[in-house]
Amino acid sequence: MNMSTLDEVFDRFLNGNTIFRNREVLRHDYVPEKLPHRETEIKHLGSIVAPTLKGYRCSNVFIYGKTGTGKTAVVRYVLKHLVRRARELGAPVYTCYVNCRLAGTEYRILTNLCESIGVKVPFTGLAQGEVFKRFRNGLESEGGLLLAVLDEVDVLVKTYGDALLYELTRINGELERSKVSLVGISNDLRFKDMLDPRVLSSLSEEELVFRPYNAAELRDILEERAKLAFREGVLAEGVISLCAALAAAEHGDARRSLDLLRVAGELAEREGAQRVEERHVREAEKRIERDRIEEAVRNLPLHSKLVLCSVYLLNKRVSSAATGDIYNVYCELCNQIGVEPLTQRRVSGLISEQDMLGLLNSQVVSMGRYGRTKKTRLAIPKSAVKAIFSEDDQLEGLVAYTPKCLLNPK
Ligand code: ADP
Ligand code: MG
Repeated sequence: MNMSTLDEVFDRFLNGNTIFRNREVLRHDYVPEKLPHRETEIKHLGSIVAPTLKGYRCSNVFIYGKTGTGKTAVVRYVLKHLVRRARELGAPVYTCYVNCRLAGTEYRILTNLCESIGVKVPFTGLAQGEVFKRFRNGLESEGGLLLAVLDEVDVLVKTYGDALLYELTRINGELERSKVSLVGISNDLRFKDMLDPRVLSSLSEEELVFRPYNAAELRDILEERAKLAFREGVLAEGVISLCAALAAAEHGDARRSLDLLRVAGELAEREGAQRVEERHVREAEKRIERDRIEEAVRNLPLHSKLVLCSVYLLNKRVSSAATGDIYNVYCELCNQIGVEPLTQRRVSGLISEQDMLGLLNSQVVSMGRYGRTKKTRLAIPKSAVKAIFSEDDQLEGLVAYTPKCLLNPK
């Protein structure tokens, strides 16, 4: 590419800008002014938290539903309006929103809670019990009500267990001048099974379930957002319906439908097209899927990557492989890069995990009178594995490796 072509690219971006009016509104963290098809949930949650405006503790709430069903958006919307009303009334209501996945550790969640009531704590260095104590003392000296939202709380519990949640649900017993109410949000519907029954019953004094959106609802959501995001008339007939239909076919995920629309717009813009067409949406779908796979593979821990690579190598010769064969190749790969192999049992667990992630596909097949065995194959394109491993210095050589056990077939 020479400079003039690059200048053309920049010029088109600077002057052209024919597609988007404001692409920010398609970002994941944008909280829209209107949330179509969630009026009932907004009112319900509003009626649960309203007592805080009069100085009463409100019930703890447990909210669950699949990703992209509007849980975060609805909760942030209600918090925003609650805070506004509390300010007008001079009511001592504090709110805190923490995404547990992004916070990452129990310590960070606690420091977030502290900051929301104006208690400063260092980023690291204190014992967790000490931070909790400062949080409790801070609440007592401030007085008032704290509404604490723990979003993606299932991630906290999966990593650290439910000890922190337990303490938080008990804290009111030790407070005189202040109270805490909790809103827990989970994308994982099986989350309840992971909780101690005492924690579950205090956390879910009230329960809200967010069901997936259907195609017509997604269309309304997209239309509202498209008015803000795109210039008038740039969306071809059928573009919004297609985004809605594709996302509804998956699991009614509004985030997915917005991603499709955004990426389709970006592809059209990059191409210098005047309009976003259905073909841009199709292309966006492919691109998003590819990114999703790449992200999942990149984030695998080393041993899982070695397992994936073993299946990849076996798949060059056979359509699917037994766990024992995968394990043999895996051990060879460990040897190649000088790491200690895990046991076959652990490796079998890693295979199941990647089956759930959609990277591998395992099936139990009957071998007649020899019983049943698990056969595994790649569930993603070989080219994707090759491309991602080639970026990694340690793993680059392995994709071209020929396992010894394949050199001498039985
Ligand atoms: P969840 O927290 O359930 O995974 P989010 O609240 O993050 O889902 O919603 C995903 C995306 O879809 C966000 O960008 C959000 O603004 C948007 N969204 C979800 N529901 C609606 C709705 N009813 N109206 C408008 N936008 C919505
Ligand atoms: Mg969310």
